Parts: sequence; C-alpha cells; structure tokens
Amino acid sequence: MPSTPLLQIKGLTKEYGPKKHRTRVLGPLDFTVEAGSYTVILGKSGSGKSTLLNLLAGLDQPTTGALLVNGKDIAKISRKRLAKYRSEIGIIFQFYNLLPTLNVLENVRMGGWAGGNSISAQKAKELLDSLGLSHRENANVSTLSGGEKQRVAIARALVNNPQILFCDEPTGALDSKNEQQVKEIIKYLHSQGITVIMVTHNEEFAADAQNIIFLQDGLIKPYSPTAVALPTPRAKAKLATTTH
Ligand code: ADP
Ligand code: MG
Repeated sequence: MPSTPLLQIKGLTKEYGPKKHRTRVLGPLDFTVEAGSYTVILGKSGSGKSTLLNLLAGLDQPTTGALLVNGKDIAKISRKRLAKYRSEIGIIFQFYNLLPTLNVLENVRMGGWAGGNSISAQKAKELLDSLGLSHRENANVSTLSGGEKQRVAIARALVNNPQILFCDEPTGALDSKNEQQVKEIIKYLHSQGITVIMVTHNEEFAADAQNIIFLQDGLIKPYSPTAVALPTPRAKAKLATTTH
C-alpha cells in the first residue's frame, strides 16, 4: 500500500478583501509533497508564492480547501496540534527576520520559542559552528553580512530538528557567492532527510528539486524553463570582450 504523502493539498484557495469585493489570489490548488522530497515553488513576483508558503507552514488560514499533514487537515486540527506542527517545521525568509536587540546566539536559541522548547546554549553553539559562525556568536546581528545573517536564520530554523524546512526567497537579498553557499547548505540539509519547500523566482533552484510547482496568477501552470542558464546579453558582451 502506498504511504500517505507528507502534505496533501486539495482545492486550496486564498481570498482577500471584504465579502463583496473578494479577490482570489490563490487556487484552487491540488498537489502533494512526499516526505524527504525537495519542492521548488516558482513564479513571478505577485504570483502567490508567499501566500502559499504561509498556508503550508500553518501561518495563515486558507479560504477553502484542505491541507493535510500526514493525513490530518491543519485547518481543522486543534490550536495545540497546530502549535505542535509549527514546532516541527523551520522557516527562513528573504530578509532573515532576526531580532536586532538579540545577539547571534540568542537569535538562534529563540527558534525554540515557537514550539515552547528551551534550546540550550550548547545546541545553538553546535549549530552555529556547523554553519561556520562560531566566531560570531556574541555579535550584534546588525554587524553581520547578508550571508551570515541568513546562516544565523538557518541555524534558528534548525533548532527544533524540523521535518520540513520552508524557505521564502532565502537568497533574494544575497550576492551570488552567498546565494551559492545558502543553496548548497539547503541541498545538504535535504540530503540529510529534511523535506525542503523552497519559494523562489530564481529558476536555478529548479535543478535541485524533485517537484516544481510553477505558479501564475495563483494557479499551477505547466513549467518550461526559460533560458536562465544561458548568459544574459550583457554577460555575453563581457565574455566577448574578455576572450579577445
Ligand atoms: P509572491 O510571493 O509570489 O510575490 P504573494 O503571495 O506575496 O506573491 O502575493 C500574491 C497576491 O496576493 C498579490 O497580488 C498580493 O498583492 C496579494 N496579497 C498578498 N497578501 C495580501 C493581503 N494580506 N491582503 C490583500 N492582498 C494580498
Ligand atoms: Mg513573496
């Protein structure tokens, strides 16, 4: 018998606005996510990616439809169970969402609050060490580079040993070197068994994924890669001048 998918999304919609002026920004959507898979949600700005991610992560309520986690609809489960689900996932965002009044170590330990867990300094230090940040433990987060901030956010997302890591444009604010590093870290975490759900407008992430969900105006459309891997006209011109 096939096992139940980790996530089953059925007829999911999200609408905003007062009753008479409702606008549907998402759906209806139907798809599944298998445990241990890497899913990339692609789409242009405004296509509904963050709205979908927030629903999947239990941060927002759908208007209609079902969102089953291990066969249970999270729109219908008790607040306690929803809190438990939130404590079993990790989330990272484009702009890190670190608390500026806390230092690096404190920001990581804060990751335990979502699930009511107390994270030992030792555990937070180990995670920071594994992400090459032990020398920045006591630093004020405002003094970190973008790449360092995102690695702190990744450490914070990992403190509860999440089953799923949700990422909303995690490299959107990074230069290409840090983008590559964060991409590799997430790929490594996936290889360690974490289910990854990655929202991005960067099609390069599609290469790491088993599932690609391409959103257009809130609906899933067939995905055909654009020529992102090819050099842009500007890069081509530069290449032409340097190879002479
Ligand atoms: P993406 O992440 O792909 O850029 P979003 O999910 O943020 O897209 O937004 C999808 C659409 O939903 C956009 O048209 C946006 O303006 C609209 N939207 C998002 N959040 C709200 C909200 N709280 N109220 C009204 N409209 C919203
Ligand atoms: Mg977004």
